[in-house]
Amino acid sequence: MSGVVVVGGINQDVTVRVEARPAPGETVVGDGPAVSAGGKGANMAVAAARAGAAVVLCGAVGDDAAGRTQLEQLAAAGVATDRVAVRRDAATGTALIVVTPDGENAIVVGAGANATLADDEVAATCSGAAVVLAQTEVGAGPVDAAARAAAAGGGRLVLSPAPVVPLASETLALADPLVVNESEAADLCGESSAAAVLARTGARSVVVTLGAAGAQLADATGSRQLPAPRVDAVDTTGAGDVLAGTLAAALADGADLDAAVRRAIAAAAESVGYAGARARL
Ligand code: ATP
Repeated sequence: MSGVVVVGGINQDVTVRVEARPAPGETVVGDGPAVSAGGKGANMAVAAARAGAAVVLCGAVGDDAAGRTQLEQLAAAGVATDRVAVRRDAATGTALIVVTPDGENAIVVGAGANATLADDEVAATCSGAAVVLAQTEVGAGPVDAAARAAAAGGGRLVLSPAPVVPLASETLALADPLVVNESEAADLCGESSAAAVLARTGARSVVVTLGAAGAQLADATGSRQLPAPRVDAVDTTGAGDVLAGTLAAALADGADLDAAVRRAIAAAAESVGYAGARARL
């Protein structure tokens, strides 16, 4: 068994900077659009490849220019894309991002091809992986299928329920670790400490990311907080994706959970020093 399979979303991000968000019925003209590669699954796969893992991405794009661009960029980053399905009847997933001068953003996502991933495609790709990193932009069904396939094949499940969707309780119980930020933790179980999330979900281990404060880790041996190095933050977008992808790569490389989380925190902290969700691609 070797390598990391990432099951998750692939999007093009279209960003427009505006003075103020439009009111209902209003049209606002802003700066842009800036088009960039996104999708949490794709971002995680790139981070895992950058951390040295052999990475296969399991996802779907449309048979369109955006999809071809995503596949080219993923391949250039060292991610195997032969398990990314190309759909004739769906567009590549697209995130429409509106950013106001206060730095706040409002985002609408058209899931497009991301919503077409079939359970059997996921199961076939995940069997044999040392680590399966599953992310929920492809919906709950494929993530549950990924968890079952990882368990059947003896692989380790790293689970990123972002966005929070209703997953099978067996999926949460297989997560080792379940990786969430504080708001996802609260959405998932009403509490945000790693120990509480561990107790509520029954996961084997839990990582709660804490931005500049690093991350909290809980497993059967107890909970502890691991700090992040101080950095001049330029853009925190996608830091959580870098953390999850690097963590999966470190586990596939044989690191224990604490060492893997330390490596992941360091990589995520470094990424916030650069602009863009996929800094330095
Ligand atoms: P995003 O949604 O922007 O991807 P997130 O909310 O999922 O992020 P965070 O908890 O904000 O995740 O950050 C993930 C990790 O990135 C942190 O655990 C930490 O390692 C690193 N990080 C984020 N912000 C900073 C910062 N300002 N300084 C240092 N490290 C940071």
